[in-house]
Amino acid sequence: MADQVMTQQVTTYKNFIAGEWRDAHGRELFEVRSPANGELLYRAQRSAVEDVHAAVAAAREAFETTEWRDDPQVRTTALFKLSEAVRERHQDLAALLTRESGKPLPISRGEALRLSETTSYYAGLVRWIFGRSQVPQPNSISVILREPAGVVGIIVPWNAPLALLARALAPALAAGNAVVVKPASYTAGSTVELGRIIENIPEFPKGIVNIVTGPGDPVGAELARHEDVDMIAFTGDTTTGREIMRLASGNLKKVSLELGGKSPTIVFADANFDRAIRGAINAASFYNAGQICIAGTRVLVESSVHDAFVERVREIVPKMKIGPGWEKGVEVGPVISESQMQKVLSYVEVGKREARLVVGGHRLTDGELAKGYFVAPTVFDEVPPDARIAQEEIFGPVMGIISFRDVDEAIRIANHTKYGLVAAVWTRDINKAMKIATRVRAGSVWVNTFGKMYQSTEMGGFKQSGLGRQYGLEGLFEYTELKHVNIQIEK
Ligand code: NDP
Repeated sequence: MADQVMTQQVTTYKNFIAGEWRDAHGRELFEVRSPANGELLYRAQRSAVEDVHAAVAAAREAFETTEWRDDPQVRTTALFKLSEAVRERHQDLAALLTRESGKPLPISRGEALRLSETTSYYAGLVRWIFGRSQVPQPNSISVILREPAGVVGIIVPWNAPLALLARALAPALAAGNAVVVKPASYTAGSTVELGRIIENIPEFPKGIVNIVTGPGDPVGAELARHEDVDMIAFTGDTTTGREIMRLASGNLKKVSLELGGKSPTIVFADANFDRAIRGAINAASFYNAGQICIAGTRVLVESSVHDAFVERVREIVPKMKIGPGWEKGVEVGPVISESQMQKVLSYVEVGKREARLVVGGHRLTDGELAKGYFVAPTVFDEVPPDARIAQEEIFGPVMGIISFRDVDEAIRIANHTKYGLVAAVWTRDINKAMKIATRVRAGSVWVNTFGKMYQSTEMGGFKQSGLGRQYGLEGLFEYTELKHVNIQIEK
């Protein structure tokens, strides 16, 4: 384990730069502890701007001097091998993810496998990077080529670190770019482990993938600002996304943003009632303690079934098993940190003034739970559409129920937010479903289901939920530049 130093059984992760494991410039470290019980899990490098500069220089060198950008076969082989190696190691990666985040182990396993699947999907798309050709005037042929953007900075959050990394890393590499990854500090370890896998795949030239850990500012900020970075792909909070855009404006680099949400689940009276209730609870993402950008945190229920809906939610939600994600049968883990818990609890207090508390509404401190950051799954009813808890991203296990009278009112409420990431509608009436699907301003709309995100189908945000698209062909083309080559034919 060349990259790790064992000190009293606690791993110290290093940065992965130019294919080497390096200490941070200032030789400072930070600690990562389990949010479920406070146990010290590992230490990682508290990098400085010098480390970002070294990683960007390594990426530039690899991009300009290796066969990576020009040889699709090398990229295909490298990405298929990476997918396979991640699949082989998915149990270890999942165990680490669960220790870092506290989330249920089956969810972590799904996430590690998603990293593998996204990588193999884009391995298969390497040869689908096509442009087009045309004859714009006689004796003149134009070829429109797609070329890699160059050096790409990737900044990911902690809520689904491997799945969200995969969505950017795999297409960026498939398109022929070199990357510098800045993982979220709370979940740095699982991403650095990925570096250990990449290190052992000879088809990845040294420096094509670099990983630098450390605080958002300066590490992420320097990556966003850096003059020699051609593109920045960021997933996380909308406020941070706005700052990334500002920093990226210095050299007008390309920007891809996947940001926050306040997504509506719309339940009509004619829906399959049981499936709609299960669907709405699933959408609220209690399984990840509500820390999911697409979480359906606003549940709009047609007034005629509203009371019955609230009653069923009141029966189901309190029965969820809460605890550390490594315990069998746990359905809800802790939130990521003490500050996140305080933020969620302060929103809960706001909610108690704005709406009617139905379930939860407090921290859990029974027995071992007192060691972690556990917030009871919380449901509010009679939430005014203008309420803060209906407008602001809480990023915790909090669902708000709002009642509506007809399709037009449902659309009005659904769109009454600055976000536009996803929406779900539950109805047996295809006309209602299609009216919602076409009028709600969101990048994905699900009908009688929720959360179907396929590697082959684009997703992304309208309004302040983001810029650009992830997944699918468009998600690959995000990481390319178009070039027009014109050929004059002598006749
Ligand atoms: P951020 O969105 O700020 O963090 C996401 C990533 O950006 C992390 O890698 C972080 O690094 C990095 N980062 C932070 N500040 C900067 C910066 N100035 N320049 C460049 N990169 C930066 O989320 P936080 O973890 O700070 O959480 C803040 C709030 O955002 C949470 O309370 C939550 O409500 C919300 N959130 C929403 C997410 C979503 O997907 N919608 C995802 C995550 C959080 P580091 O980890 O080192 O700080």
